Amino acid sequence: MGLKRSWLDSANSPTTPFPLNNLPYGVFSVGDGDLRCGVAIGDRVVDATGLEAAGALRADPLADVLDAPYWNDFMELGQAAWARYRSALSALLAEGADDATQDLIITHSVKLSEATLHMPFRVSEFTDFYASRDHATNVGTMFRGPENALPPNWLHMPIGYNGRASSVVVSGTDIRRPWGQLKGPDEDRSRFAPSERFDFELELGAIVGTSSNGPLSVAEAYDNIFGYVLLNDWSARDIQAWEYQPLGPFQAKATATTISPWIVTGAALEPFRRDAPAREVALLGHLKDAGPMLYDIALEVTLAPQGKAATTITRTNAKTLYYSAAQQLAHHTSSGCPMRAGDLLGSGTISGPNRENRGALLELSWGGTDPIALETGEKRNFLEDCDTVTLSGAAQGDGYQIGFGDCTGTVQPALNKPFG
Ligand code: MN
Repeated sequence: MGLKRSWLDSANSPTTPFPLNNLPYGVFSVGDGDLRCGVAIGDRVVDATGLEAAGALRADPLADVLDAPYWNDFMELGQAAWARYRSALSALLAEGADDATQDLIITHSVKLSEATLHMPFRVSEFTDFYASRDHATNVGTMFRGPENALPPNWLHMPIGYNGRASSVVVSGTDIRRPWGQLKGPDEDRSRFAPSERFDFELELGAIVGTSSNGPLSVAEAYDNIFGYVLLNDWSARDIQAWEYQPLGPFQAKATATTISPWIVTGAALEPFRRDAPAREVALLGHLKDAGPMLYDIALEVTLAPQGKAATTITRTNAKTLYYSAAQQLAHHTSSGCPMRAGDLLGSGTISGPNRENRGALLELSWGGTDPIALETGEKRNFLEDCDTVTLSGAAQGDGYQIGFGDCTGTVQPALNKPFG
């Protein structure tokens, strides 16, 4: 299937991230105006809140669900409603729509360049996983040596930890370098200081759309996922190295997690589903593959020192993951853990087999021992103040792409004094 043509010319470009095939959901404002639910198409944002209020496009015939600055109430309507809404909105935007329809959409839309983008949903909870075999192998090799690279449980189940919903911010939000407790292997005493090894992590975030209260099969879990965002799990490696045993990362990951502003729906990504790799250890029944549930999404990271050109430092692909978001969600619910609309699941850092495919500076600089060279002539082991990190991603179709919109953040210097 190729490009779905729209009467809006900007949506028909092979390089727009937002063709009619995509229709990602976000939240926007213009000037001092209210926050409104919006859908990106070409170079415009359709005002979904306005269309609902006008009675022109309703997600639920009985209640307003888009009169709030988030898509959670819409998610709660469930899969059938998601499909109906997407299909009705597609019809309004598709080539051949009559003049009255085009006028209606132009009235209820603004230029993307005039819109300020906000968090697209309320994050109920945030869990982060560890699903890239290359990433887990690299980190394990650095910490434990090549013989013990993969933890013994890694090929049996998705490994994760419970993160902080309160720390998730939208692309463009400045990130303050954290203070934390540090102790290097050669230091006698711990000390409280700004992180010296602050890092990014290139991840894909899955957003649970359907609440559940008990174990889900992998196939059910797949259907419960509403959509995906790019996700940067900012990580203080020196805080992490000292605190992580035995309960895993805590303050190292609590400063901030940045997500891209548009929720790309599972529906838009359907043509890009890919099989998981061969299983070296057969997965137990509740985690068994139930069809292709990874996605072919090309991913990239750039790093720009303050006021200077950006260098692309990573290129990889979400199809290289070992566990799908559906398997992570099935595993998450297997204990009976309830899930809510707006639950965010991070894939874990996505790395590939080669150096240029590594999704974090920890791996790119091999633990800070082999700095990467930027096109500006500078080098980096870890992030410096005022560095801007930008994640981007797109699934490439035949004559169109499904883009995510950038996930960007700039590191601000640590506070002079962390208290008072
Ligand atoms: Mn992570």
